[in-house]
Amino acid sequence: MSYILTLNAGSSSLKYAVYRDGAAPELRAVGQVDRIGSEAAHLVLKREGETETRELGAADHARAVEAILDICTPHMQGAPVAGVGHRIVHGGTLFDRPAVLNADILSALHRLVPLAPLHQPHNLAAVRAAMSAFPDAVQVGCFDTAFHRSQPWVDDTFALPREYYDKGIRRYGFHGLSYDYITGELDRIDAEDHHRRTVVAHLGNGASMCAIKGGKSVASTMGFTALDGLPMGTRCGQLDPGVLLYLIAQEGMGHHQIRDLLYHKCGLLGLSGISNDMRELEASPRREAKEAIDYYVFRIRRELGGLAAAIGGLETLVFCGGIGENSALVRARVCEGMEWMGIAIDPEANAAGADVISTGAVTVRVIRTDEEGVIARAVSAALAA
Ligand code: ADP
Repeated sequence: MSYILTLNAGSSSLKYAVYRDGAAPELRAVGQVDRIGSEAAHLVLKREGETETRELGAADHARAVEAILDICTPHMQGAPVAGVGHRIVHGGTLFDRPAVLNADILSALHRLVPLAPLHQPHNLAAVRAAMSAFPDAVQVGCFDTAFHRSQPWVDDTFALPREYYDKGIRRYGFHGLSYDYITGELDRIDAEDHHRRTVVAHLGNGASMCAIKGGKSVASTMGFTALDGLPMGTRCGQLDPGVLLYLIAQEGMGHHQIRDLLYHKCGLLGLSGISNDMRELEASPRREAKEAIDYYVFRIRRELGGLAAAIGGLETLVFCGGIGENSALVRARVCEGMEWMGIAIDPEANAAGADVISTGAVTVRVIRTDEEGVIARAVSAALAA
C-alpha cells in the first residue's frame, strides 16, 4: 500500500489532499495551510469527519510541506507517500499532459515565471519543498494550460506581429485540470452522446469558460494570463488594452500599481466596492452589489454566445466552481431568455442544484469539479508506469 499527496500552492496558502493509491485513487484526507509567509501560519487536516488544526508560527512553503507530512504520517500506518502531484499553473508550450518532474523540467518551468508571476513561483516553491520532504517519491506536475494545447492557431494567437507569438505571447488558457475532470465526467455519464459540443463555465474565485468539441479544447476565455475573459472575484477580465495606455500616460501609473489593480482590486470587488464573495453580493441590498452581479452575468452570457459560435453549436452547458456549483441565482440569470439557443432550465431543479437542470435541447448540468482527483490519477498513472 502507498499514498499519493496532491499540492496546490498559492502565495499564502497550500491546499493538499491525501489519497490511497490503487486502480482508482481513494481520497483519505484534505487540508490547507493558510497564512504562509506570515508569523502565524495555520494548518488544517480533515479526515473521517474530524478536523485537526495546528499553529505553525512563521512558515514558508518548505515548513508547510514538513508540517503536512508530520500531521498525516500517524494516519498512514507506516505506508510511504510514493508520489506527489503538483498543480502548476503554467506549462507554456512545453506540456500538453502531466510530466514527471526533474531538475531540467524545473528550470524550464522556472523560465515561465514571467508568464504567471503571481502563481508559478509558489507552485515551484512547493515542488522544491516536496522534493526535499519526500526524496523517494515521484513528483508529477499537472499543468492548468495543458488541456488547451489542442486549441487551433486562431485561438492561440493575438493579432500582434508574429515575432511576439514566437516569443510566447499567446493565448494559453487556464483551469485545464477542471476542464479535464469535467470532460472525463461527461464521458462517464454519457459515453455515447457525450461531449460533442460543450461549453463549461468554471466560476470560482478565478473564472473562465471553455468551448470543447469531441473532448478537446477549442477556445477559452482566459488568454496569456489568468486576467482575461470573465470578471472574477478581484480580477478584471476582458479589458481594452487602451485602458492600460491611458492609466500609464494620464494617471502616471507604473507596472506594480497596474498589476495590483488588475489582479486584486477589480472584478466583483472593484465593481461592488463591497466584496469579492458572491454570497455576500447576493445577500446585499445595495445597488452596487446588484450591478456587479449584472455585469458578471452579462459577460458570461456574451462569452457563451461566442464560444458556442466557435464550436458551431451547443449540446451541453456545464456549470462548475464555487459559484457555478452553488449559485442558483447566477445559473438562472445566465440561462434566462436563452431559449433561442436551446437553453431553458427548470427553476426547481436549478434551486436544488440537481445534476441536470435543463428542459430545452441543450443539456445543462451542474458538476462538482475535482482538480485534486485529476492530479491524483496522473500521479497514480506515473507510478504504474
Ligand atoms: P477558488 O477559485 O478559490 O477555488 P471557489 O471555486 O471555492 O474558489 O469559489 C469561490 C466562490 O464561490 C466565492 O465567490 C463564493 O462566494 C462562491 N460561492 C460559494 N458558495 C456559494 C453559494 N452558496 N452561493 C453563491 N456563491 C457561492
